[in-house]
Amino acid sequence: MDFLRPTTWEEALAAKADRPEAVPIQGGTDVMVELNFDVRRPTALLDLNRVAELREWSMTGGHCRVGAGVPYTVVIDELGGPLPGLAQAARTVGSPQIRNRGSVGGNLGAASPAGDSHPPLLAAGAVVEVESRERGVRMIPAAEFYLGVKRSALEPDELIRAVHVPPATGPQYFSKVGTRNAMVIAVCSFAVALHPRERRVGTGLGSAAPTPRRALEAEELLAAELDWDAPLDPALLRRFGDLCARAAAPIDDVRGTAAYRVHAIGVMARRTLTWAWNDHLEKRAA
Ligand SMILES: Cc1cc2nc3c(=O)[nH]c(=O)nc-3n(C[C@H](O)[C@H](O)[C@H](O)COP(=O)(O)OP(=O)(O)OC[C@H]3O[C@@H](n4cnc5c(N)ncnc54)[C@H](O)[C@@H]3O)c2cc1C
Repeated sequence: MDFLRPTTWEEALAAKADRPEAVPIQGGTDVMVELNFDVRRPTALLDLNRVAELREWSMTGGHCRVGAGVPYTVVIDELGGPLPGLAQAARTVGSPQIRNRGSVGGNLGAASPAGDSHPPLLAAGAVVEVESRERGVRMIPAAEFYLGVKRSALEPDELIRAVHVPPATGPQYFSKVGTRNAMVIAVCSFAVALHPRERRVGTGLGSAAPTPRRALEAEELLAAELDWDAPLDPALLRRFGDLCARAAAPIDDVRGTAAYRVHAIGVMARRTLTWAWNDHLEKRAA
């Protein structure tokens, strides 16, 4: 197996263009498990750890640009203000060791329906920046990035450079059901983001369909009927939960049944919206 070690982004793109079969490795918390269990035997690994810029984040053009190699620990320590939903999700990932190594870019690269970054990225309206040497940069909205189970819109000669996330303008919450409190892959998960300026609520479902996805009908319901100046109408909240549950298309597997996941999505949708709405009203009253 060849081990390619670019030191700049340009070298990394060149290596991926010349060896599209090379498997990128950032934190290695997914890749190394696959190698250990012989799930795949790549002819080359493309180590991105020397490309320093991938581990940086910045505020650019009104967005928070999070480099693909930024580990969860940094998201938790430094980005809880602008990206509270993503930071909450990051806190639930694995263990301290996994959060030190594992990255948002790696979560996107793996494109698992159970990845914890995906629901808050969907709810916030994130855009994934990918690049190839031949065709340059593509900006892919998160909602168009996930194509199937562990399949994304990334082409073989492309690398993920960063993810652009609008800083929160309202409360955001992430909720995850697992079989225990830590070191657990989601049975299912849910994220909500209030966008008060646009009078819009974003959603993201995890581990409840072949891909992470938004609950579009539920978002449309709130866009049409939510009164942003009043307490949350219990009947509207119930309909929101039902539509979120209806957006799920889960399977039975070792972690849970499809029926349980549908039920849990409805519960988490109602809970997270209630938490977010309480914060919203509190902030208005202050
Ligand atoms: C014990 C344990 C617990 C875990 N718990 C959780 C959990 O609670 N929640 C969760 O979501 N995940 C969990 N994971 C999975 C994993 O930690 C995450 O998916 C993490 O985000 C992967 O990031 P990484 O940097 O380690 O990626 P890597 O393993 O380096 O890469 C992951 C995938 O992304 C690709 N890739 C990486 N960087 C790029 C790039 N720049 N461009 C294109 N492709 C790229 C790789 O080729 C690979 O396919 C766990 C893993 C372990 C081992």
